[in-house]
Amino acid sequence: MPKVVVIGGGWAGCASAISAKKAGAEVVILERTDLLLGLGNVGGIMRNNGRYSATEEAIALGAKELFEITDKYATHVNIDFPGHNHATIYNVTKIERPVRQKIIDMGIEVKFFSRVVDVEMEDKKIVAVILEDGEKIKGDAFVETTGSSGPMGNCTKYGNGCAMCVLRCPSFGGRVSISSRCGVEDMIGRRNNGEYGAFSGSMKLLKESLSEEIQKELNEKGCAVVPLPEELKNEEKLDIKVCQQYALPAFSNNIVLIDTGHAKLMSPFFNLEKLRLVPGFEGALIVDPYSGGKGNSIRYLSVAPRDNYMRAKGVDNLFVAGEKSGFYVGHTEPIRI
Ligand SMILES: Cc1cc2nc3c(=O)[nH]c(=O)nc-3n(C[C@H](O)[C@H](O)[C@H](O)COP(=O)(O)OP(=O)(O)OC[C@H]3O[C@@H](n4cnc5c(N)ncnc54)[C@H](O)[C@@H]3O)c2cc1C
Repeated sequence: MPKVVVIGGGWAGCASAISAKKAGAEVVILERTDLLLGLGNVGGIMRNNGRYSATEEAIALGAKELFEITDKYATHVNIDFPGHNHATIYNVTKIERPVRQKIIDMGIEVKFFSRVVDVEMEDKKIVAVILEDGEKIKGDAFVETTGSSGPMGNCTKYGNGCAMCVLRCPSFGGRVSISSRCGVEDMIGRRNNGEYGAFSGSMKLLKESLSEEIQKELNEKGCAVVPLPEELKNEEKLDIKVCQQYALPAFSNNIVLIDTGHAKLMSPFFNLEKLRLVPGFEGALIVDPYSGGKGNSIRYLSVAPRDNYMRAKGVDNLFVAGEKSGFYVGHTEPIRI
């Protein structure tokens, strides 16, 4: 039985592992933290706009497992808010456990606290990947799904410093580009002003820290659009966001909140003192990233050139998926690709 080693347990890593398992391989996921889903623990928006048909298409093609879970753990279905139509929102506080259970039930091995730092190669093939503690994990094929954010130095260089996001680089060590370790140069995204990378586009507030009216609206409708006082409107922020398709004035003129279990605020970061000047937000608390009053994580820093078989160019048995394989912006795309 061929052995497939998946490096990184985000949405892309979980989806790749499921596909490889269904194709008959022995599969292990190496994840540097103690959680699966990576950035999937902070997003939540599914099935909006063209992602509805993308989801249905993937299900029809046989990739139903993860979409069934995001549908089942939905807080709200078929809601509209600026830039988004007929969205389903999954509960980010509940989603990791059922995904982990599904992966384990399918007979996929998951090794947490397993940060890959290097590779052992013979010609153009990886023989083994090497963990931080020196352990070598051999395999026939390797799938890199390490995302495009981190390590901390990158958030400092291209952003406002480590904002203590869910990836928790200070605790678990930063992302390592495996394709780079194989000698393949990464591609880096650029913002409109030419700077590298882009700020992750949203943050989470503790729902209970908001006024009862806002909580009620979130619980009942799934979203709340609260107009900002004139002095707090800031259109410049739209340019630094990852999700350019949602960089609409509605997001700089209002606070747009979505109920993901927490209150997801559709802005890369928001000065806490200023936020608390807005009626209903007097006691607001930021949950993710912890320093979301100052900044957010920087993404799009590590994309591997690849062919249409998702193989990293120049390495015979290294495949890439998710953000590592292209400048994708969502959960749906890494699950599909
Ligand atoms: C704040 C925020 C909100 C978002 N909201 C939404 C949304 O509502 N809807 C939507 O569709 N998309 C959203 N996105 C985008 C979406 O979350 C990502 O595009 C997607 O989850 C990326 O998945 P991935 O598996 O490619 O990468 P990641 O989620 O980054 O996963 C990479 C994984 O690899 C691990 N890893 C890295 N290096 C190593 C190594 N060397 N060894 C072992 N493991 C390693 C990491 O720990 C991580 O678990 C949001 C993103 C952010 C940051």
